[in-house]
Amino acid sequence: MDRDQLTRMFKEQLIPQPQSFELKGDSLFKLANGCAIQINGPKDAQTEAVRLLAKYWGINASIAVGDCATTIPSEGYCLDATADRLLVEASTISGMRHAFRTLRMMAEPERGKGCISGTWNLPEMKIEDAPALSFRGLHLCVFPETRFNDVAKKIRFAAYLKFNVVVIEFWGTFPFQSHPELCWSELSGSREDWAKLIREMREEEGVTLVPQFNVLGHAPNSRSCTCQHVVLNQHPEMEPLFEPDGWCWCLTNPHTMKLLDEAVTELHEFFGRPPYFHIGCDEADSVGLCSECRKHPVAELISNHIRHFRDLFAARGARIMMWHDMLLNRSDKRWENYTAMAHDYQHLEDMVKTIPQDVIIAAWEYGYNFHRIQGDVTYPTTMFFKENGFDTLACPWRKLDVIRSSAALAQKENLFGLLETTWHIFYGPEMKGMFATTAQAAWGVGGGASFGQTTFDRAWRTIVKDMGLKDYNDLGVSDFQVIPKTYGSLG
Ligand SMILES: [Zn+2]
Repeated sequence: MDRDQLTRMFKEQLIPQPQSFELKGDSLFKLANGCAIQINGPKDAQTEAVRLLAKYWGINASIAVGDCATTIPSEGYCLDATADRLLVEASTISGMRHAFRTLRMMAEPERGKGCISGTWNLPEMKIEDAPALSFRGLHLCVFPETRFNDVAKKIRFAAYLKFNVVVIEFWGTFPFQSHPELCWSELSGSREDWAKLIREMREEEGVTLVPQFNVLGHAPNSRSCTCQHVVLNQHPEMEPLFEPDGWCWCLTNPHTMKLLDEAVTELHEFFGRPPYFHIGCDEADSVGLCSECRKHPVAELISNHIRHFRDLFAARGARIMMWHDMLLNRSDKRWENYTAMAHDYQHLEDMVKTIPQDVIIAAWEYGYNFHRIQGDVTYPTTMFFKENGFDTLACPWRKLDVIRSSAALAQKENLFGLLETTWHIFYGPEMKGMFATTAQAAWGVGGGASFGQTTFDRAWRTIVKDMGLKDYNDLGVSDFQVIPKTYGSLG
């Protein structure tokens, strides 16, 4: 294999691919007990390196420590391997962790053995790497059908692909102590499992888990297509907390506000008081329709509501993020073919001026009408918030070209970051494409750089192994290889 092919092969073993990769020689660095590793990094870098060497390979290296070059960016790192020593350099613990994730994806178990021998091969190479975006987020939903292991696997895998924020939206699945009625009683997950995962992600992986609770619409905490309602199916007597159709919370009801305050506070506390909290706020068609709410302009109701939660979280040292769509009028020609959900009858067109500037706007654009656009896709909705002074997240979904163009926009326009949404379709081959494409795009790997499908599979097995999963249904990106059927076709 010639050098170019070999370089390409090594790069395709990495998700995301590094910014620069140079194959230096034909020898191998042997990662094994007693191998020579130079760690140039911040205080505690050596401790972290020792932990990761033990966790990933079960080895103790001979470590020398030094100072990191000042030119390495915050989450960046540098690797330099020759046959007789490996240099790992990073200015932060996050960068050090990324370096070891890269090494883990590249390390090849010693050849010619029946089992792992305790030695791994690394090529003689030099890698200089850093992410393009500082906020690389994934939005994950936890449905009653979602097994804990399944979502935990995806969160851990996101960390392995160098995401650093995961927003968790519970769909009637968080076992609230303050309000058990917000969780399907027979389907509550384990608080202990969640607490352990949140702590590990924060302390060992550098991933911030951000809870979401919908404080405006989507109040059933269930997909609209199923007609289920986590509160009203279990407690029909609680109807006054909602607008008459049950879709939106009743914003003038003090009992509603008390419930929402207690629920969001419990969630934020449970998640270890992260710096962000997502309040949802999308697709709130029926807000303000009841006989009491009707006495107020809808814009005033929603604006006061958002500012209420902005203040509540500011007092807790956190910023709220919200979906953008109710801040834009759907009949406004400027947003044609893009996402805007406010109705004319709601008169919300000027409401954005009343939203505090420290609210983070999550602008979701999935690109389903982009084929109708003459000329370039310019994301005017996303840019509107950026130009009005808001920290703005570009939020794509399933379409891989939209993931790439959203990340490119975030990079070019210096947006707050990228938040990939996943909803109810995040498994199987499609998930592989979404996961890898977002990881590459958020890292700044341009041009739709390819990744080896089997690279993804190997990385996935690594996480499954870390978790100690054994059940067949827990191991793959889908529960089954073939959709199970009790009977074959009767025709
Ligand atoms: Zn109402």
